[in-house]
Formats: sequence, C-alpha cells, structure tokens
Amino acid sequence: MSEGMTAGEERGTILLVDDEAEIVTALYDLFEDDYEVLSTTSPSEALSLLHRHPDVAVILSDQRMPGMNGDQMLAAARAHSRAEALLLTGYADLDAVVSALNKGRIAGYSPKPWDPVALRGMVSGAHERWRLARALEKERSLLHGLLDHSPDRISFKDAQGRFIRLNAAKAASLGSDPRSSLGKREEDLAGLDATTRRDADRAVFRDARPTEEVASEEGEGGARFLSIRRVPILQNGKVEFLATVEHDVTEQRELEGRVRQAEKMQALGTMAGGIAHDFNNLLTAVIGNLQLASRRLPEEDGRLRRQIHNATRAAERGATLTQRLLSFTRQRDLDMQDVDVNALIVGMEDLLLRSLGGLVSVTTRLAAEAGFARIDPGQLELALLNLCINARDAMPGGGRILVETRGLLVGEGEASDLSAGRYVVVTVQDEGQGMSPDVLGHAFEPFFTTKDVGKGTGLGLSMVYGFMRQAGGAVRMQSTEGVGTTVELFLPSSRASALSRKENEEQGAGDNPIGSLDILVVDDDAAVREVTVAFLRELGHRVVAVEDGSSALHQIGERPGLDLIIVDLAMPSMSGSELAEEVRRRWPGLPVLLMTGFAKLGGLPGSFVIMHKPFTQENLQNKILEVMSKG
Ligand code: ADP
Ligand code: MG
Repeated sequence: MSEGMTAGEERGTILLVDDEAEIVTALYDLFEDDYEVLSTTSPSEALSLLHRHPDVAVILSDQRMPGMNGDQMLAAARAHSRAEALLLTGYADLDAVVSALNKGRIAGYSPKPWDPVALRGMVSGAHERWRLARALEKERSLLHGLLDHSPDRISFKDAQGRFIRLNAAKAASLGSDPRSSLGKREEDLAGLDATTRRDADRAVFRDARPTEEVASEEGEGGARFLSIRRVPILQNGKVEFLATVEHDVTEQRELEGRVRQAEKMQALGTMAGGIAHDFNNLLTAVIGNLQLASRRLPEEDGRLRRQIHNATRAAERGATLTQRLLSFTRQRDLDMQDVDVNALIVGMEDLLLRSLGGLVSVTTRLAAEAGFARIDPGQLELALLNLCINARDAMPGGGRILVETRGLLVGEGEASDLSAGRYVVVTVQDEGQGMSPDVLGHAFEPFFTTKDVGKGTGLGLSMVYGFMRQAGGAVRMQSTEGVGTTVELFLPSSRASALSRKENEEQGAGDNPIGSLDILVVDDDAAVREVTVAFLRELGHRVVAVEDGSSALHQIGERPGLDLIIVDLAMPSMSGSELAEEVRRRWPGLPVLLMTGFAKLGGLPGSFVIMHKPFTQENLQNKILEVMSKG
C-alpha cells in the first residue's frame, strides 16, 4: 500500500448480506476491526444500501436467500456500484457460483462454513483490487482533465515516435483530431519541421534528460513562437515514453520586445535630455554674452561685428541641434514633413566633411527618382550623421563612404519588415573593417559598442533603429569582415513624391545627378544678384550673372554647357516670363527657374518652377533640385 495514503482511505467500507441474522453478526465481528461495516438480512435492502453508499468497496453475500438469490442481487448491484462482489455459499449452490464467476459478476467465493483467515484474506484482496481500480480511475481523470482543457499542446509518444496520447490542441496543430492521430507519428501528419523535431525527441530518449527549446512556426497570422518542453518517462529504469508540452510564447516575446524597446527609448531620453539641458544652459550664456559684447562694439569695426554675428549664428545652430536631440527622445515628437531626400543629403555634405575629418571622402550617388519621403528631416540628418561616423570609425586608415539614394516599390507580403508601398532608400556604404556575425547581431542594441571608453556610446545604431521604426520605415545592415558595411534606410515615400515622380515619368526625365552645375543668373537688382551668386558659388556651382534679358540670350548662345538659368520675373524691357518663354522656344532642353518677390501666384507662368523671395540657400538648392529633376 502506498505511503501517501491516509487512514480514512485505507479503511474501506464493506457490505454483508445474509438472510440469517446470526451469520451477519458473526461476519460483523470478523470484519469490524478492519472496515466500516454495513449489513443487512434482506437482498433488496442491500440494493438500496448500495444506492446510498456508492463507496462500498466489497460486497460479501450469501447465495441462497428468500426472494432474491445472491448472484442475482450482485448482478443488479452492478448497475450503480463498482464494489468487488464475493459469494458465500454451501456446496449445493456450486452451479450457480460457477455460472456467476464465468459471467464475471463475482470476483470470488468462499464456502460455508468459512475459514476466518482465508475469508479475511479474500476480502482484503478484493478491497485492494477495488482501491487500485479507483486510484487508476483517478489518475485517468486527472490526465484527461489536463489534456482536454489545456490550451498547451500535450502529447505522449513511444520510442518509435508514435502518439499514444495527445490532446485536441496538439492534434489540431497537425490538422487532425486526437482519435485519428493515435499510433501515427508527427511526420506522418505534418511535414514541415517534423524531422528536426524527431531529432530532438530522440535526444530525450537517448539522454534520459528533459529538454526545453523555443521553436518558431509559420501560422496564419505570421510566425509564432513555441516553447517546447520534452520530458522522458521512465518505466523500470528505462525511458519508455516521451511527454511533450508545447506552449505558445509569441505574445510574451512581443511584449518583451516592446518592453525592451521602451526601456531603450527611456534610457536614451534620460541621457539625451540631461545633455541637452546642460547644453542649453551653456548656449544661453554664450548667446547672451555675445549680445552684450556686440552692443559695446565701436560702430566702425565691421569686421569684429561680423565675427560676433557669425559666432551668434553658430551658437543658435547649436541650440537647434539640442532641440533635435530632445525631440528625438520623445516618441511623439517627430516633425514629419515631405522631405526631398536628395536635397537633404546635398545640404549635409559640408557638415559631413567637417565632422568626419580629412581621411575619408564622401561620394554621393543620388537618383532623381528617389523623390520625397515623409520623415522628420532633423532626425534623418542625425541618423545619416551617425551612420557616416560609424563608417569613418570602421576605416581608421581612411577610405570612401558612398551615400546613395534610390526609389523602391515594395509589394504586398514582399518584405517582413516593410509594409507594401513606395520607399526612398538611402544607403550608406563603407569599405571598412566590417563586423563579425556576432557583433552584427548586437549592433542595434543600445549601449552595445566595440569602441574604447570615450569613443563609443553604443547609442548610434539604436537611435537609427528607433527612429526608423517610429517613422514607419526600416533599417537593414549587411557587413563582411575585412570588406565593409552597408546600411540601408527605408524611408516611407510621401504623396508629394508620388506626384513628382509621375511628372518625371511623363516628361521622360532620367537620372539627374546633382553636382556642380553651370548656372546663369538674370536679375536687374544688383543686391539680389550678388546674394544669389554667392549662395550658388558656396554650393559649388559655376555661376555667370547678367542684368537683363538680351544679355542673357547672348550668354546662352555663347555657352553650350549651360545647365540652368535662374531668372527674376520683374525686369524692365524684357520681363522674366518673356525671357523664359523665349529660352524655352530656342533651347527647349535648358531648365529655367523663375524668382519672384510677389506672394500671389496669379498671372505667373504655370509651367515653370517658381521660387519666392526671400529665400535661404537651402531653399535655393531645393528649387534647383526640383527643376533639374523635372528635366
Ligand atoms: P558606437 O558607434 O557608439 O559604438 P553604434 O550603435 O553606432 O555605437 O554602433 C554599435 C557597434 O556596431 C559599433 O561599436 C561597431 O562595433 C559596430 N558598427 C556600427 N557601424 C559599423 C560599421 N560601419 N562598420 C563596422 N562596425 C560597425
Ligand atoms: Mg556610432
């Protein structure tokens, strides 16, 4: 008898039935020490007692009784009792006993008069059988309860991998039901990764040790992750069976990912916020003192004035930068705009050259069809700066960084990290030392760095990653040790981009790499002319300027390599639009950009690109890009 059994459970209940009261009493005396004893002299009373006491373990009944014989009563008792049945009988009734035994209605019999020791042994054996049957029943219902109601997939297999038990969840995952899956193997039901699973199953049989792994599985709503626990089940010291529990951990994983991302952003926010705060204080002092100093400057010292003005401008730029840093850290603070990505990159060239040092060169290869992205321009600059700095750090001996743009159309279900639509792809490629697969696997993690203390923070790529996710794009990175690294940013295209691309296609314009252009400026106002020329020269263009339409036409005739003319609208004698029309008639391939100081668009020639005064250098470059990409 097992040790965990309580006294109450051990002391079973027995029922004694005999029409002779003395016999009942004698039997009572024999068993009362070991059992709870119920007794009666009437077979029909016995049946109703059994009805009231379903926990009776053994019935010991006389065979010959008035009204109903023992074997008949026991047969009737079967209907609502699972008690072990024993008959007490004289030799005259042997035929009835044999028949009852053969029909399986009784488990044994004892002659009358009985041998007390033998009868006790028989009852105790019957009680033990009853107890075992109940224990087995309990185990089965526990097992079935667990199998039927668990959302986990549970199965038991034999050494050949055949299912000997499995629940509905497991069967359903194999496209089957429990009944028709029994005796089959996993690979009989589902192809897929069944072989890798079988290898894992076999390892448990071999090593007799439980295992746990996380496996992924393609489901209807995308990939799902399952934690699979395998447990060897031993019989006689040998692994006979394998129990497998598969628990879906997809949600848990996603949640963990989100928590990690949130923590990352929080860490970044705290850090960037702290730095920005200190910087703002510093810059306030710098700007304030510059202002105070400039008031005391002698009027005539124009040079010093300019220097102070430049210093103030630089400090103000610093303030804008801290704002960007702050805005990066707050999830909802993205300043989404329709951004001409090529123009943004061109505008960064100066900044890149200055911040990367002399050993590396930056080459751009910008496709006009890349177009506009819906993105926060400040963040994009920061991201590109980060990538270029990483590229530089990977090329300590110098080298070339290639920044490219292109347009990309992603179809439904084509990429797991991108939804369908148009993207502007910016690629930053270096020919540096590259990364090992291990480093590559961790590179996007915040605070992961392979650089010396003080050189790397490990935040660059995690910033880029967070930003791209937030903007609805993606970032991908490829790297080969000793060869170099390529990072691709996928920026969602804006609607403006779609429009301008359509125009491009209609007009059949091809790629228009923006580099150094030959430009003719036509303006009667000397001050505006000078500013425009200065801006253009700073941007690296070659510029000629004239003050009226007829000299312009003359210049154009003289210069076959001219790329673009920029024309003021309001000019005496020949107006800007007249000149533009004339140019279009005589040199149809030559792009024209019109400038105007008037806010209203009414009466302006519609088919030309217009730039409003006043304009910044950046505006000017953007407009040039626009004209050039229109062809
Ligand atoms: P940090 O530059 O401060 O180390 P990042 O998040 O920008 O942090 O980069 C993390 C790590 O990824 C770097 O330390 C480096 O090991 C690796 N890495 C990033 N970009 C490159 C690259 N272009 N070439 C080689 N390794 C790179
Ligand atoms: Mg970095």
